[in-house]
Amino acid sequence: MSESVIRVIPRLDLRGRRPGLRELRAALPRAEFDVETALATVRPIVEDVRDRGAAALHDAAERFDGVRPASLRVPAEVVSAAVDTLDPAVRAALEESIRRARIVHADQRRTDTTTRVADGGTVTERWVPVDRVGLYVPGGLAVYPSSVVMNVVPAQLAGVPSLAVASPPQRDHGGWPHPTILAACHLLGVDEVYAMGGAQAVAAFAYGFDEGEQTCEPVSLVTGPGNIYVAAAKRLLKGLIGIDAEAGPTEIAVLADVTADPDHVASDLVSQAEHDPLAAAVLVTDSVELADAVEAALGRRVAATKHTERVATALAGRQSAVVLVDDVEVGLDVVNAYAAEHLEIHTADAAAVAARVRNAGAVFVGTWAPVSLGDYCAGSNHVLPTGGCACHSSGLSVQSFLRGIHVVEYDEAALREVGGHVVSLARAEDLPAHGEAVLARVPEVEPGA
Ligand code: NAD
Repeated sequence: MSESVIRVIPRLDLRGRRPGLRELRAALPRAEFDVETALATVRPIVEDVRDRGAAALHDAAERFDGVRPASLRVPAEVVSAAVDTLDPAVRAALEESIRRARIVHADQRRTDTTTRVADGGTVTERWVPVDRVGLYVPGGLAVYPSSVVMNVVPAQLAGVPSLAVASPPQRDHGGWPHPTILAACHLLGVDEVYAMGGAQAVAAFAYGFDEGEQTCEPVSLVTGPGNIYVAAAKRLLKGLIGIDAEAGPTEIAVLADVTADPDHVASDLVSQAEHDPLAAAVLVTDSVELADAVEAALGRRVAATKHTERVATALAGRQSAVVLVDDVEVGLDVVNAYAAEHLEIHTADAAAVAARVRNAGAVFVGTWAPVSLGDYCAGSNHVLPTGGCACHSSGLSVQSFLRGIHVVEYDEAALREVGGHVVSLARAEDLPAHGEAVLARVPEVEPGA
C-alpha cells in the first residue's frame, strides 16, 4: 500500500530503531484533546456545583444532557420498577456478569495482619473500607449497566457502608438515568441513585448538596469510568476526594505477530473505538503483512458497524495508529511505554509474552480473550486506568475501597528497648521534642541504645 493512500488508521514506522522511553513517550499516539486540556472546561462546572448545589446540577443537566430531571435523587420506586421492564436476556447476562465479578473480587478481600516487631511491640495493618463512595456510571454516547456491576461489586465486597450511584439523565427516559442502569442498581441492592452526569456529578459527590428535603452527603471517594470531562473532574477534585484512577476514554493496544488473525484484531480495535471519538486503538506489530491485513479488515468492519462515524473518527485520530517495529522484543518496549488501558497479546507464544508486560490496565492473552469479554463477563474489572496512568495505577478492585491503617501497640519494656534510637533520630532531624516525648516516659534511655 503506497503512503499516499488515505488510511483508516495512521501508521508509525519505528523499524530499524529501538527507541528509549523518552523518545517512545513523545512518538506514541495520544489524543490532542486530553485530560489536561479538558480541565479548563470542567473547572467552572465544578465551581458552579460547589457554589450553587442542586440548581447548578439542574442547569448542567439541561445544558449537557438536554433534560431537567424531576429530582436529582431517583425515587426508589423508579429504581425498583426498572427491573420489571428489563429484557430477560439482559437480566440473565447481568446476573452472570455479577456472579463472575463476585467470584474474582471476593478473592481480593484482605485480612488484617499483626506483625510482632519486638517483645511487647506489634504493628497491625487494619483494612478499613471508605465510609461513603460515589460511583460514576457513564451514560452519554452509550449506556453502561456493566459499569454498575464493575463499580458496585468491589465496593460491596470491601464492605463500604454507604454507596451512591450517579449516571446522566436521559431525555428519552423522563430525565432519569437509563432504565437498564437503574435495573442493574436494583439487582445489586443499590437504591441511592442520582440523575447527574459528567464533571457536575463528580463535583456533586465531592461537595454534597441539598435538594428540598433530600441531602446528598459528600463522599470520600469517587470511582468509575467516564469520558474526558469525567476524568478531568476527578483530576481536579483529587485530594478533596480520593479517586480510583483516571479511567477516561477507552484505549486498546494489540501486540501481534504474523500468526495473529487479522479479523480478530480488527474486530477488537473497532469494538473499543466505538466507545468514543476520543477512544484510542493501537496495533503494534513486527509484520507488515499483518498490518496490511488488519487495515483491510478495518476498512470492511468500519463501513459495516453501527457507529461508523464514531469508530472512523477514533481510528483516524491522533490517538490511534499501527506501529511497525522490528520484532516482538521492541514491541514489548512500545506497549510498556504506552501503558494501555487494555492490552491484547496475539503472538505465537502469547502467554510468555504477556508475562513480560509491566504496564497495562488489563492484559488479554491470545485470540480467545477479546477485550469485550472483559468489558462484560470475564470476571475481571473493566474500570481501568487510561492516558498512560497504567504505569502507576491499577484497575478498580476491592483494594480501591480500602485503607490500611497501622495500629501501633508497644508496652513499656518495648519502648524502653528502642527509645534510644528514637532520641538519636529525633536529634539528627533537629526535632528534639520528638525525643523528649520518649524521654518523658522512659528517662533512663541512652541515645543510640
Ligand atoms: P459519560 O457519562 O462519561 O459522559 C456524559 C457526560 O459528559 C454528560 O452528562 C455531560 O455532562 C458531559 N459532557 C458531554 N459533553 C460535554 C462538554 N462539551 N463539556 C462538558 N461536559 C460535557 O458518557 P460517554 O460520553 O458515553 O462516555 C463514556 C466514556 O467512558 C467513554 O469515553 C468510554 O470510552 C469511557 N469508558 C472508560 C472505561 C475505563 O475504565 N477507562 C470503561 C468504560 C467506558
